[in-house]
Amino acid sequence: MSHSSSTIGRPLSSHAVTGALWIFVYLLLTLAPLGIVMIAPSITGVSLPAGRSFWTEFSVALGFVGLSTMCLQFVLTARFSFLKAPYGSDIIYRFHKIIAIFSLGLILLHPLVLFIERWDTMKDRWHTHPLAFWTGTASILSLFLLILVSVYRAQLRMEYDRWRRWHAILGVLAIAFAVVHVMRVGHYLAEPLQRWLWGGYTLAWVALIVHVRLLKPLRELREPYEVVSVRPQLGDAAALTIRPVSHAGIRFQPGQFAWLTAFASPLSDREHPFSFSSSAERPEIEFTIKKLGDFSSRIPTLSPGQRVYIDGPFGALSADRHPHAPGYVFIAGGIGITPMISHLRTFADRQARDRAAGIAAGNQPHERPMWLFYATNTWSDTTYRDELAALVRELPNLRLVHILSRPHDGWAGERGMLSADVIRRHVDFSQGRFECFICGPPVMMDAVERALRSLGVPIGDIHAEKFNLV
Ligand SMILES: Cc1cc2nc3c(=O)[nH]c(=O)nc-3n(C[C@H](O)[C@H](O)[C@H](O)COP(=O)(O)OP(=O)(O)OC[C@H]3O[C@@H](n4cnc5c(N)ncnc54)[C@H](O)[C@@H]3O)c2cc1C
Repeated sequence: MSHSSSTIGRPLSSHAVTGALWIFVYLLLTLAPLGIVMIAPSITGVSLPAGRSFWTEFSVALGFVGLSTMCLQFVLTARFSFLKAPYGSDIIYRFHKIIAIFSLGLILLHPLVLFIERWDTMKDRWHTHPLAFWTGTASILSLFLLILVSVYRAQLRMEYDRWRRWHAILGVLAIAFAVVHVMRVGHYLAEPLQRWLWGGYTLAWVALIVHVRLLKPLRELREPYEVVSVRPQLGDAAALTIRPVSHAGIRFQPGQFAWLTAFASPLSDREHPFSFSSSAERPEIEFTIKKLGDFSSRIPTLSPGQRVYIDGPFGALSADRHPHAPGYVFIAGGIGITPMISHLRTFADRQARDRAAGIAAGNQPHERPMWLFYATNTWSDTTYRDELAALVRELPNLRLVHILSRPHDGWAGERGMLSADVIRRHVDFSQGRFECFICGPPVMMDAVERALRSLGVPIGDIHAEKFNLV
């Protein structure tokens, strides 16, 4: 979970304002079609079919809101950075999942209310509108199946890429069937305004799919990256360094991530998300990738000069978004070190840049107190342990705390799980509203979030990125 920064005693961030604005736009887009078609006929001159009861119109309203929330699902996952910036990807994907279930609820209620209310007339008449009936049913079934395979993907042992393809297909089918259903029922397409409205919605939705599946990948193809090196790291990981080919590359904030395509064209839609582990102040980009499945295990086979493609940056897990914080607490578990080392490398570069420019030490964010808690199983799988020790020497304000769950004999540091006690021993939260950043296995992240809350850290000061979107 990630939360935007709390604003008590601090300037109201532009992210909070933009975030509120987008929520308003979202609600407007969800409800506008309903408002125009059903609630304001007198303003628009649109007339409703005569002689229909409140429950019939209510059921139709549920269907329309369900359909517009379904269409907006595509906007949420289209990875528009302006949309993700205020919240972070984690929140957007959570919202996407909740809205999917909400939308299924509305869409199921739509025929249910209609059947209960008009059972006597409908039970014998569905076959007079067979296409409307079957497309409505097909839309509901597609949505139901989509949610079922998403919720139970792990239990169904469905490979991620295959799930992604089916997710897209079922999503498109659910909406396409629903649009045909609305057109076949026809009551709400009688007036030109209604036709414009639904025509516009359908066109916008098709344009979105063209943008995501075609235009964006084509732009990635025009702006490729090449592999500079792949270096093995502790913890069964590999550091992949890439640089832009004949273009300026992207700018990112430490802690953000990008979608990486390798061994395939961006048009193939076989991309994987990875946090930047490099400094945001350098043109070459590094990802540090732990071997997990098919894709990540192939990373070490990449060779210098080979083309890869990235789409980004995304994510809100960045200290750069909190320049007024009195200090930063970074908490990493396993490969969750990547966004944290990106911060530390960036801070070290900024400090070196200041020194080179003769800027006296002051109160820049990278000079404020900061802690890195790093939980791993053993010392030998502690990725970047040597570089972290070097960064401690470079950044005098950094305190590094290793926690090993399976420490070797003679280990003098913290051991066991990362708990509130461990954190309390090193950070005194009464000294300031430190911003906390967490990244690691989901179970650890939830436990750390609870630990921080028990130490009195406001929820708005806790920011997290989960490495599993589904
Ligand atoms: C925001 C974010 C940042 C990440 N940063 C890093 C990082 O810095 N280093 C690192 O090693 N890992 C990172 N990951 C995890 C990484 O994306 C997965 O480990 C990788 O995609 C696994 O793919 P695979 O084919 O090797 O393994 P698989 O066995 O196919 O997948 C293992 C799990 O990874 C996830 N996954 C797989 N494919 C995708 C995909 N195309 N899109 C989204 N999720 C997928 C699924 O939860 C899946 O269950 C990050 C994930 C996210 C969401």
